[in-house]
Order: sequence, then C-alpha cells, then structure tokens
Amino acid sequence: MPQETIFSKIIRREIPANIVYQDDQVTAFRDINPQAPTHILLVPNKLIPTVNDVTAEDEQMLGRLFTVARRIAEQEGIAESGYRLLINCNRDGGQEVFHLHMHLVGGRPLGPMLKRA
Ligand code: 5GP
Repeated sequence: MPQETIFSKIIRREIPANIVYQDDQVTAFRDINPQAPTHILLVPNKLIPTVNDVTAEDEQMLGRLFTVARRIAEQEGIAESGYRLLINCNRDGGQEVFHLHMHLVGGRPLGPMLKRA
C-alpha cells in the first residue's frame, strides 16, 4: 500500500486547506507556498503516488483533472490571459509530495517553461 501524505488529510478535511473545489474524484486547494497569484493543486482523491503509478483504470479521473482545471481557471479570471498546468514526477521532476497532483499556475507572465541549469 502506498504511504499517505498530507494531501490525504486535506482531502478528508482533517487538516485545514483553502479548498476551492471538491467532488467524488478530485480535490483542488490553494498551494501553501504560491509561486504566482493563482497557484492551485488539483489532486485525485485516490492515492496515486506518481505518474508512474497511473493505470488505464484512472483515465476517466485524469480527464476530470483537466475539466476541473479549466473551470477553476475561468473562476480565477485567468482563462484568457493564460496559465500553466504541470505535474512533477520523482526526483528529477522535482516532486516533493508523493500523491499525484497537477499544479495550476497563473496570474502573471510565467516566462520560459524550464530554468536553465
Ligand atoms: P511538488 O513539488 O510535489 O510537485 O509540489 C508539492 C506542492 O505542495 C508544493 O508547491 C508545496 O508548496 C505544496 N504543499 C506542500 N505541503 C502543503 C500543505 O500542507 N498544504 C498546501 N496547501 N500545499 C502544500
């Protein structure tokens, strides 16, 4: 069984978070350390540690992440100006919390996708 992270507690509302959306499959809440005026994490309610652990069974829920992201971007008023969706995987991807999540970042020009090393 994969190890739970703090995100499971947020999903179950056992610890506080600024939750902006929740349904039976996905929970979205504001990042505690925002990198831009809008920085929201979209998290499957099911504990999937990394992208490496997704299966065909998860395809419908993964699609839900995108439709929820689209709706939240509209609510945040950044749909037209633009935003970035990103998912980090494992060490080189910079993943810190091992419960799969999509970052929705926007509200300012985000610049190039990757910093040069
Ligand atoms: P990762 O690097 O794993 O893709 O991103 C993890 C993100 O989770 C980071 O942006 C970090 O600021 C955020 N984060 C970590 N712990 C918490 C928490 O307890 N609450 C919230 N709202 N965000 C968190």
